[in-house]
Amino acid sequence: MIDKLYHNRDLSDQEFSDLLAGDAYDRQLFARAAQVRHKVYGKAVYIRGLVELSNYCRNNCYYCGIRHDNRKLSRYRLDREQILACCSDGYALGFRTFVLQGGEDPYYNDDLVCEIASAIKEAHPDCALTLSLGEKSKESYRRFFNAGADRYLLRHETAAEEHYRRLHPPAMSLARRKQCLMDLKEIGYQVGSGFMVGSPHQTGRHLLADLRFLQELQPAMIGIGPYLTHQDTPFKLFGNGSLRLTLRLIGILRLMFPMALIPATTALGTVDPKGRELGLMAGANVLMPNLSPLKVRKLYELYDNKICTGEEAAECRMCLNDRVAGCGYEIVVHRGDAKTAPAADTLPGLVLEAEAATLTA
Ligand code: SAM
Repeated sequence: MIDKLYHNRDLSDQEFSDLLAGDAYDRQLFARAAQVRHKVYGKAVYIRGLVELSNYCRNNCYYCGIRHDNRKLSRYRLDREQILACCSDGYALGFRTFVLQGGEDPYYNDDLVCEIASAIKEAHPDCALTLSLGEKSKESYRRFFNAGADRYLLRHETAAEEHYRRLHPPAMSLARRKQCLMDLKEIGYQVGSGFMVGSPHQTGRHLLADLRFLQELQPAMIGIGPYLTHQDTPFKLFGNGSLRLTLRLIGILRLMFPMALIPATTALGTVDPKGRELGLMAGANVLMPNLSPLKVRKLYELYDNKICTGEEAAECRMCLNDRVAGCGYEIVVHRGDAKTAPAADTLPGLVLEAEAATLTA
């Protein structure tokens, strides 16, 4: 099965289920995933400077600590100048992609988002700008794109209708989320999607639906991380998602999508102190450290015990350097766009054909 995936061939539903069900294939999976990652991206790890601009949110996702109805949380928003200052600090630390992420906060209307996007691009024309501001109209997405945004992250969260309804209130819909992702692609963004691993009520069938949906969407970026409990949500009694299953899925995704930008997420680093390193070794190639001002870090609390909330951006950057070097990779100062067309020597199947031709010549 692993070799089938490695040769860019699809698996049947049963084969994917077998792969997900236990650790029998893990060794082979991680070895092959590392090989593919190496062929496409070498030792490079791309970093994205994450600016968490607001923890106000109009939504009420049952799993999320910044959901609208969490009255215990102190709310904050960063203004244009604070956001620009985060980006300037990040630039000096070697970041060439900035990610503006936040709850769905209507305070940031289209004009303001466009103003911030164009100011960032004007100050740092060699950088990529990623937005992750939730569901918007196609027209809004188009305006942000025209103002300079290059990429958009919007996890689908779960591709199974009935599971989506168990994670979200009736006001939200999977159809709408999928439509947003299609709109973003049509406009020309590099699109990122993804899901939580081990979210409440999730089954193997749901994960299979996630993989099939990603095959349809063909995103440039795929963000997955374990679901982590937050004490002030309706899901407070559900336990955390599994490190092992998340790593297994990263390996599978790397083989299914050799060119994808796959982060070793903060959630992975929260569920296990070595989670991000293990993520890189399982096939991930991106890290997204926090550039938000120290005083608001703790307030962007999607889940309990989130890591790196007490460190300055520079400290985080140094710490990551060591962690990445420790697993044989290297942080690069680069925009880190997704590779789109397979270079002749990147896709495993092609490499093997070339190797075979040499052998039989
Ligand atoms: N509002 C934007 C959106 O909906 O895409 C961006 C912010 S949202 C908080 C970012 C991501 O956090 C979500 O896509 C979700 O997968 C993740 N998240 C929220 N609560 C989480 C939890 N309890 N455990 C793990 N991840 C969580």
